[in-house]
Amino acid sequence: MEKMIYLDNAATTRTAPEVVEAMLPYFTENYGNPSSVYRFAAKNKCGVDRQREAIAEILGANANEIYFTAGGSESDNWAVKAAAEAYREKGNHIITTKIEHHAILHTAEYLEKQGYDVTYLDVDEDGLVDTDELEKAIRPETILISVMFANNEIGTVQPIKEIGRIAKEHGILFHTDAVQAFGQIPIQVDGLGIDMLSASGHKLNGPKGIGFLYIRKGVKIRSFIHGGAQERRRRAGTENVPGIIGLGTAAKRAARTMEERAERESALRDYLISRVMAEIPHTKLNGHATKRLPNNANFSFRFVEGEALLLNLDMKGICASSGSACTSGSLDPSHVLLAIGLPHEIAHGSLRLTLGEDTVKEEIDYVVDALKEIVKRLREMSPLYEDFIRKNP
Ligand SMILES: *Cc1c(COP(=O)(O)O)cnc(C)c1O
Repeated sequence: MEKMIYLDNAATTRTAPEVVEAMLPYFTENYGNPSSVYRFAAKNKCGVDRQREAIAEILGANANEIYFTAGGSESDNWAVKAAAEAYREKGNHIITTKIEHHAILHTAEYLEKQGYDVTYLDVDEDGLVDTDELEKAIRPETILISVMFANNEIGTVQPIKEIGRIAKEHGILFHTDAVQAFGQIPIQVDGLGIDMLSASGHKLNGPKGIGFLYIRKGVKIRSFIHGGAQERRRRAGTENVPGIIGLGTAAKRAARTMEERAERESALRDYLISRVMAEIPHTKLNGHATKRLPNNANFSFRFVEGEALLLNLDMKGICASSGSACTSGSLDPSHVLLAIGLPHEIAHGSLRLTLGEDTVKEEIDYVVDALKEIVKRLREMSPLYEDFIRKNP
């Protein structure tokens, strides 16, 4: 078989065999609709609720605060749109950041067209939100603050506790897109002052097309999908039972292995970063040096095109990303890299490598060796690099 090294775990992860195994009976023998009354089907309702309880326990929440959705994008859409609508009488101002996932950014832009006013906070060169700026942006009509827990491109982890404190002090709802953080970083909703939290199965070795939204009890929020009585009437539609079983199993598994996984992955990541920075000149590490996801490394290589880099890595069986999956195919550099102040031409030469639970040191060595060779070759073909070398001999 052709060699493959998968370093794109921020885009998606492999569904763990243990998770697939837990899901399988729900496609075959346990196919009953959880809303049916006979025991054959009603036991699936118990299965769904057990996963709800398990997820709630991980977050320090109550089971009736967890709502299953079709993934991170849906959770983000629901949280922001429904909160905006439910709190419309109080005001029309929303605060978010320039580095959110498009599921938040495009939702915020949609709401602007509906008459809402949105403040997009800047971040510093490491990708951190300034909490003083946040506090200054608050107005009497501010109804929602939505700041992601950890960034999917550069891995920077935000000061969530401080943001939660500020939101609470001003009586404003706080939503966080924790799609990258949930399963990688310990999260307790009460201690962090989080009112709503989005997560997704396929980013934590669970299945795709399933996620959840945590909504704190007492938060006024309208139904997202109208129809049947599922998810306490707030998100209608027959439950994705296999998906929910998979998500719950993956969440429990991630919580159980989090500590040693984070330790192992961050050690490998640091090894990757130190080798790349030492062996490939004119390279910048993007994202915060320490406040970052354990599995994320993001580099900019001057005088190199990200697309060319990805294609050459692919030839060597290496799966990576030059930004977020949603922006590849577009010629614009990533909004996150621009927000941390990278000039266009440097943002274009960026590479995201995200490790997973299966990543081993030999793979990191193989990737760094390949990168060295590819970057060198691409630079030799670059007139900009030739010019630079002539001027800086
Ligand atoms: C992947 C991702 C999403 C979208 O989740 P889906 O389940 O793919 O819809 C949202 N936010 C962040 C930060 C992500 O990384």
